Amino acid sequence: MPTRAELARQIVAVSHALHHRGWVANHDGNVSARLDGGRFLVTPTAISKADASEGGLAVTDASGKAVEGEGKPPSEFALHLGAYAERDDVLAVVHAHPPYATALACAGKSIDVFLPEAIVSLGDAVPLAPFAIPSGEAGAAPIRALIGRYDALLLCRHGVITVGPTLELAMLRMELVEHLACILTLALPHGGVQPLPADVIAKLLAKRRAASGLLGAAAALAGGGAAPIEEASTPSPTAWTPAGPPPARDAWSGGETEAACSVVYGAPGVASAASTPSPASSAAPAAPADRNESLTDAVQAEIARLLQS
Ligand SMILES: [Zn+2]
Repeated sequence: MPTRAELARQIVAVSHALHHRGWVANHDGNVSARLDGGRFLVTPTAISKADASEGGLAVTDASGKAVEGEGKPPSEFALHLGAYAERDDVLAVVHAHPPYATALACAGKSIDVFLPEAIVSLGDAVPLAPFAIPSGEAGAAPIRALIGRYDALLLCRHGVITVGPTLELAMLRMELVEHLACILTLALPHGGVQPLPADVIAKLLAKRRAASGLLGAAAALAGGGAAPIEEASTPSPTAWTPAGPPPARDAWSGGETEAACSVVYGAPGVASAASTPSPASSAAPAAPADRNESLTDAVQAEIARLLQS
């Protein structure tokens, strides 16, 4: 297990990366790690993640109460505690508001994972946790209900939370969720992403389950039948620092994604439709085909409306 000083360094590095990538704004987002003795290290409340420092981190007990130093934990740390309480293998939690993934979460969508490698890393879905004010036990409840089976969750009308056995893996999962959300958004004008065949998903989930020692308890619970086992590659935690410098905000799409987003999420008709609570926001996520269809239908309807106007 990394030393406390090393964990503090990694929390600060992740915090700075979240800010530089535009995945948090104002005082948004929080990063934490589990320490020995039932304590936790977490970014303090009311700071920009650009200003996170090793000496300014909060140290809490198992209930989330500050026990050392002057740093005060954020109210959203309750969400982290919910994940830690559910899974002993979770040693790090990252919460942020990356724009593409958060756009989906605010539209009441979840992600059916559509890239083969991503299924090994995340499973076959990034489900949508029902909305809750993000503090206290009520805020943690939607996390606790799902985190036993998933390593990354979209938080309805809020953002994203990821967990891992290391800060590195939790951050990489955040990166992957945002990457999937970006690709999903880019594919919308082309008719949306195509789902992988069910038998392929089953084989990939078997690989994920076989790699559970590296990927955590959720991977061990992944479904799927027998398949050739290939060892998952995980970068060495000691060699890892967040990638940088970050890309320009618009580098992914050359401006096309932002234009697509304004059509998909910024138009009044779609916005009002998205504000209607979906079944997925109050219960288990809907069937994959339903979610993909509803997203694609919303885009097509909006494009048709714009062409008629
Ligand atoms: Zn948040």
